[in-house]
Amino acid sequence: MTFHHSLPDVWVWNGALSGRYTAYEGYEWLLAWEDGIHDSVWGWIWRLKILENLKLFLWQLTHECIPSTQFLVSRHMGLDTLCQCCHKTVEDAFHIFFGCDVTVLLWQSVFPGLVLPQWGTINWFLWLKANIDEYGVMLVSLLWELWLERNRRVFSGIISPPHVLVGCI
Ligand SMILES: [Zn+2]
Repeated sequence: MTFHHSLPDVWVWNGALSGRYTAYEGYEWLLAWEDGIHDSVWGWIWRLKILENLKLFLWQLTHECIPSTQFLVSRHMGLDTLCQCCHKTVEDAFHIFFGCDVTVLLWQSVFPGLVLPQWGTINWFLWLKANIDEYGVMLVSLLWELWLERNRRVFSGIISPPHVLVGCI
């Protein structure tokens, strides 16, 4: 392609050969996403044979939009970022699912010997995919139970002992 210096810069729609956006082109582009054409990175979540709400939960987790206290504060929807379970550190998604004391206990009970990702040492999204491929719905169920337990503690003040949580998985 040849560029000419006298031509002005213009915005083009990358979803159509013409470069012009129309509602029809936008609709076709969105349908292609649903068909998985553009969704090679995250499509594995939607192909899992699990309940739809768990797929949505995994999508939120892998897109860093789980409403942890840190997430809410970063969007001006809260004041305190401290973990409401251990009260030791900032509650972000990594802490909820891999760092909190209760979390680590649960992982060790259900998957003894499984090496958990450490903060900053590994892409934990890749870790998630690899281990969901390996352990399937059991691992998703553990993540979901961790999220439910976190919400019970934060919103209802109910603390379940680890053996009860293991029984829920
Ligand atoms: Zn904690």
